[in-house]
Amino acid sequence: GITIYPHDAATAEQLVKNAENVMQLAKTQGGNRYQFYVANVDQKIRQTKVLEKQLASAVDDNQLELAFQPQVNLVTGDVSGVEALVRWRHPERGLISPTEFIPLAERTGAIVAIGEWVLKASCNALSRWHEQGFTHLTISVNISANQLHQSDIVHTVRSLLEETRVPPQFLVLELTETAIMNNVDLAIRLLRQIKQLGVQLAIDDFGTGYSSLAYLKKMPMDEIKIDRSFVQDMLEDPDNGTIVDAIIQLGHSLNLSVIAEGTETLDQIRYLQECECDVAQGYYYSQPIPEDALLTLLTQQRGQIRNATQRAAQASHTLLNK
Ligand code: C2E
Ligand code: CA
Ligand code: CA
Repeated sequence: GITIYPHDAATAEQLVKNAENVMQLAKTQGGNRYQFYVANVDQKIRQTKVLEKQLASAVDDNQLELAFQPQVNLVTGDVSGVEALVRWRHPERGLISPTEFIPLAERTGAIVAIGEWVLKASCNALSRWHEQGFTHLTISVNISANQLHQSDIVHTVRSLLEETRVPPQFLVLELTETAIMNNVDLAIRLLRQIKQLGVQLAIDDFGTGYSSLAYLKKMPMDEIKIDRSFVQDMLEDPDNGTIVDAIIQLGHSLNLSVIAEGTETLDQIRYLQECECDVAQGYYYSQPIPEDALLTLLTQQRGQIRNATQRAAQASHTLLNK
């Protein structure tokens, strides 16, 4: 472990401590090596270790929550489904985003327990909503790469469907291309087994991985979600506009339903309607929100969402006829 005076510390005591810490780091990185003291790396490693440890008991400590984001049918204007997005309510740090803790959970294996919790909470929420009369709603749940391969996902989904009595066709599992391509033959086998349970499958973040069209054809998919990065500037960047249009045509020719993610403006909605995209999800309609807010939106604002979408449909119709 190497630390440098006066750059890293002013006292002998602190210097020795630094050197010792980075020596530990060098050892955990396989040993037989040296390591210079780097304040932020050192601190980051310690913070991550602490988080990983706390994450292991987050499910048991009831620290996970779901937020729900509506998905709106671009023809009827109805909320046709919602995506469940997990959050970690950390006792000291407050809400932590899944982009921060899911990668840690994947590395430590905590993703198996977290993934099961998310699936169960999602099915329970959906069955409450169906009981309250929103019988057409679907729920989409994210499944990460390691979750697909580490856990007995087929068994988990099967027992959950039995336990919660959710009709399987209302559950949509979202997987990224990268998750599937990791181990493509095994993934296809698992996906076929999941598909046999009657649930729907979606490809998430479509267009960002190395999508193989040959495999796309082989996979038992129902839905493609066009990644936010194409949607966000498709009106400013004509190339992305063309890509979005092409993905929609491709999806439809393979009999898949197409969802656009990250739609933030009315103009984007109009463009998607012109391209005959099926569904849109994004801040234009709603951010991910807690269950009670979702229920309010479903009961009170459904008319408003429908009106906004139909106005957009009429507007794009007028545009097309000009
Ligand atoms: P994702 O599956 O692509 O989820 C969509 C993300 O985009 C969400 O971020 C959502 O809040 C955000 N978003 C939605 N609409 C808009 C918009 O109009 N504009 C912008 N700028 N962003 C929008 P979030 O909730 O932070 O989730 C991030 C990622 O974490 C998700 O990306 C997903 O990959 C992962 N994730 C979330 N929940 C779970 C889970 O339960 N299990 C697993 N394995 N991964 C999850
Ligand atoms: Ca997703
Ligand atoms: Ca996505």
